[in-house]
Amino acid sequence: GMPAVPPQTLGERRRTRALRVGRVGVGGDFPIAVQSMTTTVTADVNATLQQIAELAAAGCDIVRVACPSPDDADALPVIAAKSSLPVIADIHFQPKYVFAAIDAGCAGIRVNPGNIRKFDDQVAAIARAAKDRGTPIRIGVNAGSLDARLLAKHGRATPEALVESALWEASLFAEHDFHDLKISVKHHDPVVMIRAYELLAEACDYPLHLGVTEAGPAFQGTVKSAVAFGALLRQGIGDTIRVSLSAPPVEEVKVGLHILRALGLRPRKLEIVSCPSCGRAQVDVYRLAAEVTAALEGMDIPLRVAVMGCVVNGPGEAREADLGVASGNGKGQIFVRGKVVRTVPESRIAETLIEEALRLAGEAREE
Ligand code: SF4
Repeated sequence: GMPAVPPQTLGERRRTRALRVGRVGVGGDFPIAVQSMTTTVTADVNATLQQIAELAAAGCDIVRVACPSPDDADALPVIAAKSSLPVIADIHFQPKYVFAAIDAGCAGIRVNPGNIRKFDDQVAAIARAAKDRGTPIRIGVNAGSLDARLLAKHGRATPEALVESALWEASLFAEHDFHDLKISVKHHDPVVMIRAYELLAEACDYPLHLGVTEAGPAFQGTVKSAVAFGALLRQGIGDTIRVSLSAPPVEEVKVGLHILRALGLRPRKLEIVSCPSCGRAQVDVYRLAAEVTAALEGMDIPLRVAVMGCVVNGPGEAREADLGVASGNGKGQIFVRGKVVRTVPESRIAETLIEEALRLAGEAREE
């Protein structure tokens, strides 16, 4: 289940309307939710449900599935019913799939008005169907598919153009008294994206879904998303996030959760405080840190483990952490909750840390 809202440490969260995507609350005082998107063919129900289960196990809160064909639309009722996560159907081009997804019991619909011809004429019918089923809608504006009218007006996908597009669509829904909206204005450039969300946050009180679109392969996409989300979440902007990576979706979820934990917006779990090592290092810090991380990844209790290469900052960090090692002269002093409990040779540092970590985890579970 979703953890309780941790204490805010980044300043005021922006005040937004709240809505529900299935059992997950979005906006208002609800925790910031992590989303991802399946890469399976949606119509392949078993493969899609399998990937959704993997995403759920990784800590994903909400999943989105593409719906490009009639077979995909036909699969939505089973997927929506059997998925362990709330399912949002992602619709481009074909408004009839919007209605199919609402009928299928999807927890939400994402529409991209720039990719649906004469979308504006369909808003009344979509608003009515969505309201009848209590289905929220995300207006997902994307730099790569900006409304032709706004592209002509602004020359390119500027922050102002993205925001104008989103607010125009939102106003059409509002005219039909439909307000269960979430908005995104994605761009591949974090600078443009940040400005767009800042403008959007000032102009409306709808919850916002953050994303740097086409952020790239894992390393670049992680950096771009972390920088952009950090800048916005620092200002209290953002209610759901999706890290877009050219990598398996489980990786997106891991990165998203790490970003929220780094900002103190989710309770921290395993945190490795390891030094970069330098000319003073007296043990192989990279190897130690990698071994300890690999062995303890996925631990379900908060635990700060310090892996430090020498006595300069070693004892200080090791003492402050739940568990740590300060190394010197081929040996490691093992600290548990601030006290040296053992001194072991370098070859046994990693296994000792892992052993102590598992012991602490066992204790924590008993409490
Ligand atoms: Fe260098 Fe020691 Fe600091 Fe690690 S703890 S970076 S080895 S001075």
